[in-house]
Order: sequence, then structure tokens, then C-alpha cells
Amino acid sequence: MSRTYLVATRNAHKLQEIQDLLAGLAIEVLSLTDAGIQRHADEESIEVFDSFEGNALAKAHYYRGRSDLPTIADDSGLCVDALDGAPGIHSRRFAPQEFKGDLDEDEANNRWLLDRLAGVPDARRGAHYRCALALAEEARTLLVNGTVHGRIATGPRGHNGFGYDPLFVVAGGDSTFGQLPPEVKAARSHRADAVRRLRPWLA
Ligand code: IMP
Repeated sequence: MSRTYLVATRNAHKLQEIQDLLAGLAIEVLSLTDAGIQRHADEESIEVFDSFEGNALAKAHYYRGRSDLPTIADDSGLCVDALDGAPGIHSRRFAPQEFKGDLDEDEANNRWLLDRLAGVPDARRGAHYRCALALAEEARTLLVNGTVHGRIATGPRGHNGFGYDPLFVVAGGDSTFGQLPPEVKAARSHRADAVRRLRPWLA
């Protein structure tokens, strides 16, 4: 009988990417919706730690507690060299509310990031994505990390992926994750790197 894991994220893009990256393993993967885990007000106060690792562990333990299933949780973000690693763990809510206005969250974050980097030359636009993945099971907790290096473009390009992908130029080329086909992101991303390290523990 195959083992069932919960992938605990309310981000539909992350969920799809992780489900695709786990394909081929003899396991069953449930989303929060599949498992009937309704949104609760206290979810807003899970991510109070100052590291991707701390937040991924907190989410995995929280949702394991609610589901009683072995739970995988992702905490990820973009770290920009010229901004001393910002937005980092604050990636989702980088743009201030007053700037965001009616803009969609990703759009506001991307515009805010471009504004912060106005006038910064290509050579100093280095950045990396980080992904911490935690697995909380009854008897053990695992934590893995993934990274992908690149730089921030001077304007958005492409519509694939989500979040900062239209601005993130993957190292070794000139295309953003927004421009590259999903298979390339699935092979090269921080999330792919992290899932690759987790897979041996799930088989
Ligand atoms: P979290 O849900 O607190 O882990 O925040 C993740 C945020 O980091 C997202 O809302 C995006 O802004 C950003 N992020 C993480 N992974 C990616 C990715 O693969 N592509 C683009 N943006 C990402």
C-alpha cells in the first residue's frame, strides 16, 4: 500500500510544482483541499521565524497536527545581492500596502523590486532563489534546502511560472523563468533542487 503525504501550501503554483516534482514515486500526494483542511485565521501566525528553515518546519508541524498525515511544507523566496538578501523570507509581502493598491500581489512585488534596483548595473543584479522543504512525520522531521542562482532583469519577460519568475534570469543564459518552458524550471529551480534531495526519503 502506498504511503500518503500532505503537501501543505495554499499557493496553487507551488502545489503544482511540488506535485509534478514528486511524480513517479510510489506515494499518494494530497493537497490541503484534498485533505479537507480549511483555512483558519491562525495560519497567518505560523511564519514568525527569521529563516526559511524555521518557517518551513513550523508549517510542516502545524499542518501535520491538523491532518495527522506526514506533511511536506515549502518556505521559499528571492534573495537579491544588491539588497543585502532582501526580500528573502519577506518575498510574498515585499511591496508595502500603500504601493500595492489594487495591483495583484506578484505584480506589485515585481514593480517594487524593479524600483529598488533602478540604476543598478547588470553586474550587480545577482540574486538567488531559496527553497526550504520540511517533512514532518510522526517519528522524524527532515529538512532540505534548494538554491538556484541568477540575476534580476531590468523589466518583466514572459508569463510562465509565478511570483518573481518574469524578472529572474537563470544563470548561464539570458532567459527568465517567465520565458522558459515549465520543464526547464522543473529541472533547474530551487524547488526542484530541494525536492531532489527529499525524494530518497520518500521512496
Ligand atoms: P512563502 O509562501 O512565504 O514561502 O512565500 C513565497 C514567496 O516567494 C512567493 O509568494 C513568491 O513571491 C516568492 N517565490 C518563492 N518561490 C518562487 C518561485 O518559484 N518563483 C517566483 N517566486 C517565488
